[in-house]
Amino acid sequence: MNASRFFRPSYAAARAAFREAAAARGLTIHTHGNPTAGAKGEDLTTDVALLGPQDARRLMIVLSGTHGAEGFCGSGIQVGWLSGNEPLPADTAILMIHAINPYGFSHVRRVTEDNVDLNRNFVDHGNAKPENPGYEQLRDFICPKEWTDESERRNLAALHAYAQVHGMDALETAVASGQYVDPQGVFYGGTQPTWSNRTLRAILSPFAARVTHSAFIDLHTGIGPYGFGEIMSNHAARDPGHRVMQQWWGGEATYFDDGTSSSYYVVGDTQIAVNQSLPNAHNAGITLEYGTIPDKRDMMNAVRADNWLYAHGGGDTGTPKGRAIKARIRAAFYPEQDDWKEMVVERGHYVMKRMLRCLGES
Ligand SMILES: [Zn+2]
Repeated sequence: MNASRFFRPSYAAARAAFREAAAARGLTIHTHGNPTAGAKGEDLTTDVALLGPQDARRLMIVLSGTHGAEGFCGSGIQVGWLSGNEPLPADTAILMIHAINPYGFSHVRRVTEDNVDLNRNFVDHGNAKPENPGYEQLRDFICPKEWTDESERRNLAALHAYAQVHGMDALETAVASGQYVDPQGVFYGGTQPTWSNRTLRAILSPFAARVTHSAFIDLHTGIGPYGFGEIMSNHAARDPGHRVMQQWWGGEATYFDDGTSSSYYVVGDTQIAVNQSLPNAHNAGITLEYGTIPDKRDMMNAVRADNWLYAHGGGDTGTPKGRAIKARIRAAFYPEQDDWKEMVVERGHYVMKRMLRCLGES
């Protein structure tokens, strides 16, 4: 297999590849326009294609680019699948959603145009938000106003000292579990449903009346061994989807509640949009998370640097410092080597095929 041909080096090229692959299958493409512009001024859209019958009762949903910079990977998996010819089980369809956060994909950022971490945005905004006292305590070190080698040494020393006292898990929770107090900070969940949130719900809502069973795959990168895709259950142990995940994957998937998942605890994720948009269905989903660079801390620090660039550094204006920061975040979420792409596509195909079979039998 030559998987590299499914990947593209920019959002605009990835979007074109997805649309071409869908058109080659004779699929109709629905387009949702984002109100902002891309890094090179291009139009930003989320593109959607349905494989299989419109009125299928079983629906597999495959989502790319929740965290924009991770969309290179997700797009490659989607284009690869569309370029193959796997048969569908009876009464089953696949909904391919390409680049749900097109701003982040184009600008190579995790966040949306309003600095929101989409995977922390699906909380009930009318009620009290989850608190993150660790973030509030460490805020000036996590998201400093200046970014130099020297300031970064001081900030990392402060974060390290916190981990020494409270543990590494506590530091990761403080930085990455989500926060709702600092609109200029990292992993910010927002104050209202952002464009990508509303768009995802609008894409799913036409299926609410018919779908009785859904299987959801949200494609991510940044955590875990190079090229390996961890199958992270999206469900807490008390959630009905948990039992489904155990039936479908058993110990091959990882779970937050028993400590097997490599992810930090997440609130407000995309699975909530699926559950709420398909309220009459049995919904079960995973986050398929691919490893990129060896050390998770380097990924976090790449995100912190990128946050500084846009919050305090004037954005990506082509300065040497800005270019170095953009290269760093790109590498943290998209390694671009051929062997990585092969592993990503092969595993993605396996996971999708298995989910599809399980869904077809449910
Ligand atoms: Zn992600």
